[in-house]
Amino acid sequence: MGFRPERLFAARAHRLQPSEIRQILRLTLRPDVVSFAGGLPDPASFPLELIRTLSAQVLDQHGPEALQYGLTMGVPELREAIAQLMRREGVQTDPEQVIVTSGSQQGLSLTATLLLEPKDHVIVGSPTYLGLKLLATFHEAIADPVPVDDEGMDPQAVEDLLRRRAQEGTPVKFVYAMPTFQNPSGVTISSSRRRALVDVVAAYDTLLVEDDPYSRLRFAGDHQRPLIGYDDEGHVLYLSTFSKLLAPGFRIGWAQGHPSILEKFNLTKQSRDLHTNSFGQYLTAAYLREGHLDRHVATICALYKRKCEAMLLAIDHHFPPEVTVTRPQGGLFTWAVCPPQVDTGVLLPRAIEQKVAFVTGRSFYTDPGAGANAMRLNFSHPPLERIGPGIERLGGVLRTAMVAR
Ligand SMILES: *Cc1c(COP(=O)(O)O)cnc(C)c1O
Repeated sequence: MGFRPERLFAARAHRLQPSEIRQILRLTLRPDVVSFAGGLPDPASFPLELIRTLSAQVLDQHGPEALQYGLTMGVPELREAIAQLMRREGVQTDPEQVIVTSGSQQGLSLTATLLLEPKDHVIVGSPTYLGLKLLATFHEAIADPVPVDDEGMDPQAVEDLLRRRAQEGTPVKFVYAMPTFQNPSGVTISSSRRRALVDVVAAYDTLLVEDDPYSRLRFAGDHQRPLIGYDDEGHVLYLSTFSKLLAPGFRIGWAQGHPSILEKFNLTKQSRDLHTNSFGQYLTAAYLREGHLDRHVATICALYKRKCEAMLLAIDHHFPPEVTVTRPQGGLFTWAVCPPQVDTGVLLPRAIEQKVAFVTGRSFYTDPGAGANAMRLNFSHPPLERIGPGIERLGGVLRTAMVAR
């Protein structure tokens, strides 16, 4: 083929490069590899029978609407059910303040589209979500890191950075936080830091984007109020999703925030995809209305708790004692930090040879070189009985690397 369409691409198309995660995931699809690399729910948790029943019910009760074009803001029944879910968690809201998105990834993408000009700054945790890093690159914005410790993002560090950028006259368009069981580290922002973080963002008159896919997947410890529950002026834009509470294939998430932001979300979404899939929205509305969420989430949490415990137990047995790991109370990930001289990027090909995979720590940092000695380990997706053997093999790879030095 002589035609090279690349010549026609816009500059932003050239900025899109396959992420390391995607390339690795391809290798780890081989059935003999135990992959701790993905961020996927356990497929055994998908409630197939329930979805079959609800599908039939949606077709009986809402057939024509569920198959027809719908409103960009989302199916009213679903917006109502989401508002109820938020109110139950202590957040004041009504359906008018909720827009349904095609996954929370679309919420992030709409946010970036609306707010980011080239050279704008976004404050992110260090480490942070790979998806946000990629969006910042795509929009030529600068992801400005603040440290994440055992209590999550430090509001003082955020304030210092906001002050510095204000003095320089560089706009910080938003602060991006995953307050509960953050991806990749599994760390949660402590309750004492939550109000402080919201107050700092309000004091600097900027926006806090709260990405919250995991807080409902808590299997230990006490529920924490979302950041938006500390906000009464619309400084928090809340994004969440049913991907990890029902099934990611439906692509249903939501956003709640300031009316001016939601109005622009609505207009932008109209030109992106018109609306989120109607059938999945009716189904999710029925799932919520009939109380299946709590039952199903309890089942998932029990499963992930066992998987997380199996992983931590195997780590205690098989990893060299110099390697530290986070002990998450929910979510999908734990995070291992090796001594500084270990480069997990060098270990990964050896691990894959030994039929075990993880994601290298540096994928989640914006500073080049940072996180080189860390790795993200997913416990939700691999089958329970393969977690121990996989960790044992990974421990072998770590030991060999650390002895060889
Ligand atoms: C899974 C995940 C998402 C994307 O979720 P979707 O609703 O499936 O688009 C967004 N943010 C974080 C931190 C995630 O882990």
